[in-house]
Amino acid sequence: MTYPDPSATDLHADVVVVGGGAAGSLVASLLHEARAKVLVVEAGPAPPDDAHGAPASPLALPDDAPPDEAWRFRSEPEGARWFRERVLGGRTRVWGGWCFRASEQNVVDAALLGVPWPLPLRALDPYYARVERRLRVIGNRDGLDVVPDGECEGPVTLHPNLAALSTALELPVIAGRIASVGQRPWRGTDALDGVDVRTGTTALRVVPRGRGIAGVECLGAGGERRFVGAPRVVLAASAIETARLLREHGDRASLTLTSPLIASYMVLVDAPVAGVAGASRAALVPRFVNTPGGVERPYVGGFSVEVQGPHAASIIGARAASMLELREEDLARMTLYLVSAFGSMSPSRDRALRFDLDDRDAHGRPVPVLSLPTTENDRALGDEMKATCLAIAEALGGSSAVVIPLAAPDGLSIGSESLHEGPLGAFQGAFGARPSPLDLDGRWRDLPGLYVADARHVPFVGDRHPTLTLLASAARTADALLRDRA
Ligand SMILES: Cc1cc2nc3c(=O)[nH]c(=O)nc-3n(C[C@H](O)[C@H](O)[C@H](O)COP(=O)(O)OP(=O)(O)OC[C@H]3O[C@@H](n4cnc5c(N)ncnc54)[C@H](O)[C@@H]3O)c2cc1C
Repeated sequence: MTYPDPSATDLHADVVVVGGGAAGSLVASLLHEARAKVLVVEAGPAPPDDAHGAPASPLALPDDAPPDEAWRFRSEPEGARWFRERVLGGRTRVWGGWCFRASEQNVVDAALLGVPWPLPLRALDPYYARVERRLRVIGNRDGLDVVPDGECEGPVTLHPNLAALSTALELPVIAGRIASVGQRPWRGTDALDGVDVRTGTTALRVVPRGRGIAGVECLGAGGERRFVGAPRVVLAASAIETARLLREHGDRASLTLTSPLIASYMVLVDAPVAGVAGASRAALVPRFVNTPGGVERPYVGGFSVEVQGPHAASIIGARAASMLELREEDLARMTLYLVSAFGSMSPSRDRALRFDLDDRDAHGRPVPVLSLPTTENDRALGDEMKATCLAIAEALGGSSAVVIPLAAPDGLSIGSESLHEGPLGAFQGAFGARPSPLDLDGRWRDLPGLYVADARHVPFVGDRHPTLTLLASAARTADALLRDRA
């Protein structure tokens, strides 16, 4: 292995953060506030300046273009859509902003599925609170065990149509807990004020020196090699990209990959939307099944349902209307809801990430191969998710509602993912023969100065969006780094 000549180093920092998505931006801002000299290297470009931008349409879809030569991946079965946003802010450019704490039921499920939580849930409480305040999560204190209350800005009043849903379903329906900046969801870029960022800069490898780190070798937007010298590096490039960077530092050859199951429907009701100033149009119907006191089902896990709306149906626009064979004049008097169920494919030995060393991308990196077979558990959960969305559609609009499927719970749409060393394996070293290369605070054991702060080894939360938990873990890692540096 050759080490770069320090005199050729063009950039220096105390800490290099690789990836400027949700996790990287949060960690960089925490370190910056603690007066560390931080540099974020982000593969994508800077986004347009939209600090005060309008809210995205609830129908806005992420970029699903096939990955270019430099970012290829394969899936088994073929045809998975792995949503990656190569832009500063990462996937927070397109996310919905839903933020939920994990519950004890998630910890129980994770143990049953062979990816036990490495730490007690309460260890994350102070970090959840910190992240909720930073991301300005709105919501109420609902007092439900299944979705623990957080440090949310409130009170939030539900639109009467959503409040009525609770009566119709005889279930709690709570105001959406959403990370909000003005009228739009929080984005990573909201955290980056004052932080030094290099966009168009792809990290290729972390370069060790002796028992420590020399820095990060990067590729600039013009194809030029750059070296960023730093004694500490935080990998926050998203789980799979981080795993690729860790390969040459003793990582496992294969890791368990968990990803969501999502069922999503557009519901059109033939009545104009009632305008109610200030009322929230986002509601969560918390986890449905296998909860103490709830409905028992013969599978592990559960799911939650999100309802967005009511909106004037005309927001879907002329193009989508014609694709869906709907007439604009009909839409003008209709109300739109989006109903989505969110669960997770169950972790299994077969659902794994590996890298094909014989198939290299344009940067010479091994191509990720995502194995995504479904299990009986996934199929049973997916069927129930679809049936529940349809029941909610009916509760919202009666039997005459027009219900259009948007996403099937086939496990092939990957909006978020996490990696584990299970199942029944060596998560954080508690159970396996070989200890995990990562410690509980995100330190890479074999290379002092190297930290991981994204959805690599984030505790498994299958029935709700994972990002708040991911960010709470990332904030823990930032604290560990600051302690080590002191
Ligand atoms: C449509 C959609 C809706 C979603 N809605 C929600 C929601 O409502 N709630 C929720 O909790 N979650 C949601 N998610 C998931 C959420 O967006 C992700 O869990 C979260 O953004 C992951 O953050 P991250 O920082 O780990 O990764 P990312 O946000 O993907 O950021 C990684 C960054 O690293 C950069 N990068 C990658 N490789 C390199 C490299 N080698 N060098 C330099 N930079 C690199 C990328 O360009 C990117 O900017 C949604 C996802 C999608 C796609």
